[in-house]
Amino acid sequence: MEGTKIAAGNFLLSFATLVAGASISKVQRVLRHMGVACISLSTFFRHQKRNEAGSSQAMEYMAFQHCMEYINNCGITYDTLVTDRHTSIAKHIRENLKEVKHYFDLWHLRKKIRKVLSKIGKENDCEEVQPWIRPCENHLSWSATSFGDGRVILAKFVSFLGHIVDKHKNLDDPIFDSCAHGDIEHREWLNDKCVVYEKVCKALGNKRLKKGIQKASPLSQTSCVEGFHSVLNQFAPKMIAYSYPGMYIRHIIAAVHFNHNLNRKVVTNSDDSEQLVVVYPKFKNGEATIRDVKVAANFCYVEEMYQTFLDAQRKGDLEEEKDKLKKMTPEPINTMLTKQPRDEAIKKRKEKKG
Ligand SMILES: [Zn+2]
Repeated sequence: MEGTKIAAGNFLLSFATLVAGASISKVQRVLRHMGVACISLSTFFRHQKRNEAGSSQAMEYMAFQHCMEYINNCGITYDTLVTDRHTSIAKHIRENLKEVKHYFDLWHLRKKIRKVLSKIGKENDCEEVQPWIRPCENHLSWSATSFGDGRVILAKFVSFLGHIVDKHKNLDDPIFDSCAHGDIEHREWLNDKCVVYEKVCKALGNKRLKKGIQKASPLSQTSCVEGFHSVLNQFAPKMIAYSYPGMYIRHIIAAVHFNHNLNRKVVTNSDDSEQLVVVYPKFKNGEATIRDVKVAANFCYVEEMYQTFLDAQRKGDLEEEKDKLKKMTPEPINTMLTKQPRDEAIKKRKEKKG
């Protein structure tokens, strides 16, 4: 590469891997299987400047503080915040932003419900709960977005526990004591005496979850934000722990990719009708989902990023940027722990093995 001792091909491979949100170890394996020589992992990380920090609750809270500072500095005013159920963030808003309305993102609450019910569904003789998972999530969305404050949202949500055992009237909570639906056909109702129902009641009756549901966001949820979660997951898969700069950079690339591909047009047929695709998601048990076919994603920003990088390198701005990134990087999380000495750990293992 011009003005450096870095081989252009090597750098391009690192760059392309990063902007594609790919994992270098997989790319390396693919090339090796093909018998193609490839840069080492350490070269890639030198290019990406990685260190071991991992991710944690603390980092999420710090990111939140950075965001708020940024928003405040931009002079953006707001009266409502929608976040996930992160404890420190909720506390921060409660204590420092008293005038702000705070809601929990429905997507996160739905995910939590899906998680706890799916767990029950996997236990012995509890598979009956499976077909109720999706309806429960949908019921939460309806409870939150149909009119009512936190207390009403919760009462509506809890009515689900009556509904699934075929009890739709004279429910326990006077705030919402009967289902809102009219006549419905027979479902595979649960038996209110069986263990699975007891488990569902216990899981959905969890104190922290109930508190969360009371704060469920009644604002219309943009599927746009949900879309961003899945884009982000492609650029920074959750199963991999990235360093702070690695995570930061991958978030930026994901955001750029997302913004470049917002509101993608729907592909039309020759008669101008919209092209559709029918899919059968596993969780819907054979029921179909219809989706629009969108035009292919646009990656033109990659060239712009590359040119920006080359420009910065020519101007000698990279060092300064590197310093800035270094300054905002927190200490690796493992330095915050009291570590067991290495010798002691090895000695213990030897003793165990006898
Ligand atoms: Zn009902």
